[in-house]
Amino acid sequence: MDNESIHEFSVQTIVKYFADCPRQGPGGPEMTKKALSFVKGLNKDSVIADLGCGAGTQTKVLAENTPAGQIIASDLAELFIERVNSLINQLGMNDRVEGVVESMDSLSFEKEQLDLLWCEGAIYNIGFEKGLEYWKQFIKPGGYVAVSEAVWLTVERPEEIQNFWNNSYPDIATIPNRLAQVQKAGYVPVASFVYSEECWIDNYHAPQEPVMEKFLKDNAGNKEAEGFIGFQKLEAEMYRKYKDYYGYVFFIGKKI
Ligand code: SAH
Repeated sequence: MDNESIHEFSVQTIVKYFADCPRQGPGGPEMTKKALSFVKGLNKDSVIADLGCGAGTQTKVLAENTPAGQIIASDLAELFIERVNSLINQLGMNDRVEGVVESMDSLSFEKEQLDLLWCEGAIYNIGFEKGLEYWKQFIKPGGYVAVSEAVWLTVERPEEIQNFWNNSYPDIATIPNRLAQVQKAGYVPVASFVYSEECWIDNYHAPQEPVMEKFLKDNAGNKEAEGFIGFQKLEAEMYRKYKDYYGYVFFIGKKI
């Protein structure tokens, strides 16, 4: 596994696998609600974007915990958007929530249309600084951005975990560095907090175990699929071993 990284697996393989998982990244409803508690002034006319929404886990929490207003959940993967739209139908929320296929680096919102731009565990796809800078034009003055991202929790860390992240996401940074980037991009950093360990172990890694088994059975003999599962297992093992050194952090900023 030494030289493998998640980049070697096709997008289809990854989407197919994660469509069967309850979450597509570490997190939990408590984290979504906590981040939302720092966002003030939402009302029935508010427009909220949920970028890189995956299968809509946090879209549901956003919809259930905002007073009213419109939510546009978008993702590049069609399969996820199908899931989001069937979830919205089940919840009877089609009047205010909509899932659309759109890339986070070419958004069709109007300038200053959004009261809140949400992006949970997905900003790495565009890049932290680039995303914050590009998205700002779509947010109203006084509106909010809320993004979560993998970060280093310490200044120094063991070589094994440093190498693992250098290989899969070399842009990973410390919390103070990310906060400085939020500020530099034109937002007041109103809050940041670290996800609890349950967000990784109970909500993200544990539910993958049965999905892994089924995925390997369905793709028996497929080297790419086996390699991908190997990487997912390694990722979970790295977290258990090195969770003092890295984690996920929510950053909430207010556009000025
Ligand atoms: N927010 C979800 C999903 C996070 S996983 C959760 O926390 O559970 C990252 C998501 O980003 C995936 O759903 C992936 O399909 C999506 N993605 C990748 N590149 C993208 C892009 N350019 N534009 C929009 N979404 C993208």
